[in-house]
Amino acid sequence: MPKIKAFLDDTAQIIGPVFSFEQEITGRSDREKAIARFVLDKAKLVYEAGKKLGGVKPLGWFRANLEHYVYVKKYSRNTEGEDKEKVAQALERIKMPSDATEREIALREALVEYGNRLVSEDLVQGTWGNLSVRLDEKTILVTPSGIDYASLRAADMVRVDIDTLEYDPKGLKPTSERGLHAMLYASRPEINAIIHTHSTYCSVYSACEKEMKLTGEAAEVFGETVHLAKYGFAGSKKLARNTAKAVGSGLGAIMSHHGMIVCGKDLPAAFNNACLLENAARDALATR
Ligand code: 13P
Ligand code: ZN
Repeated sequence: MPKIKAFLDDTAQIIGPVFSFEQEITGRSDREKAIARFVLDKAKLVYEAGKKLGGVKPLGWFRANLEHYVYVKKYSRNTEGEDKEKVAQALERIKMPSDATEREIALREALVEYGNRLVSEDLVQGTWGNLSVRLDEKTILVTPSGIDYASLRAADMVRVDIDTLEYDPKGLKPTSERGLHAMLYASRPEINAIIHTHSTYCSVYSACEKEMKLTGEAAEVFGETVHLAKYGFAGSKKLARNTAKAVGSGLGAIMSHHGMIVCGKDLPAAFNNACLLENAARDALATR
């Protein structure tokens, strides 16, 4: 079995820095094994499709090892084993804030709904990817970190201060990409919703370190070029800065070796933009 060097963060995280597409899958639970299988199948498709863009580029030994280490130590939870109780207790503790207005509750419910729609559209895998909306001029609501979309409830969404990134420590931990979401809201007052995914066809561009050229409806929404953000470690300030720079005054970016990000005036618009960009990537690759 030929050995492949990881070219996407999520494969490095869940499988490891070097792998073969046919290798036996291990994991802490059946759920984690199923996600690992999915991610490996995605990597295979990305590897093959990447030949059309000049080939995937390896992530590099240091980055891939660090991504794997941090995933195993800090991110991965065994929700069917020793962590089941902990996660259940954390979710049990969380109640809707008593001062949440009807509008805030509706926004929280929309985050649950669109998280699940990303799953149905195959745009997210496992607990990867994240969503957010602007709540008011100071605050955003974001999905919690490392929780399956299917188990999310409206009360689980986390309020994060746009300027300070502060959040209520008694609640769930907000997405590890909160800094990226907040940075975009701070500089783009017209944006009210953001979606980040590791979707398959955008990942081909990520893995090959290529910007995307668009035509038709996608070009009308995103412009003729969706820029490539330079690599930054998942959840880091560098990733936030590089990605915000690539989004610029547009509505999306490809994130090197990681995935994509899209923005919208509201959550339905951001969701449509996520589907539009992924479909544009798929169609562009099909005609090459
Ligand atoms: P979170 O579960 O912390 O949102 O992280 C997922 C992800 O995609 C990180 O880049
Ligand atoms: Zn991500």
